[in-house]
Amino acid sequence: MLMINFMKKVKAVHCGHKTYLSGEIIAFGQTRMFNLPIIGGEPGFCLDCYQKMAIQCPWCGQMILPGDPITLYKPEEKPVLLTFPEQSKIFSLIPTRLIGCGGKGCCESKTDIVGIMSTKGVPHVSPGAYDFLELNTIPHVAVSR
Ligand SMILES: [Zn+2]
Ligand SMILES: [Zn+2]
Repeated sequence: MLMINFMKKVKAVHCGHKTYLSGEIIAFGQTRMFNLPIIGGEPGFCLDCYQKMAIQCPWCGQMILPGDPITLYKPEEKPVLLTFPEQSKIFSLIPTRLIGCGGKGCCESKTDIVGIMSTKGVPHVSPGAYDFLELNTIPHVAVSR
């Protein structure tokens, strides 16, 4: 069994920063304990880089980190927060679909989880979901507001 020492800093493969493997991520006034995903013995990115990758759910305001399940609702399917979070992301423009979280009370059904957030700023959306979401122009690029 591979033992992982959470008290020692290691170098993340992609960003090259030294990092603990587990720690708090603070974004949008929220704090979340986070374990870095380990692939091949080392993390890809450090905790600071993950923090910078955090986006905010436009419907409930919760932070979304790479590895989190996501929904792609249309604005007319959900009531938006009073102030649209600046760190929310638009997945597609026609139809307009926004990257939302898979949280209870926000994601209405398990079948609404259509992908997983990645470290590249765009989620991996399951190919089968494209028809269902009426997404017919591929590729879709997530753009910041
Ligand atoms: Zn880093
Ligand atoms: Zn949400």
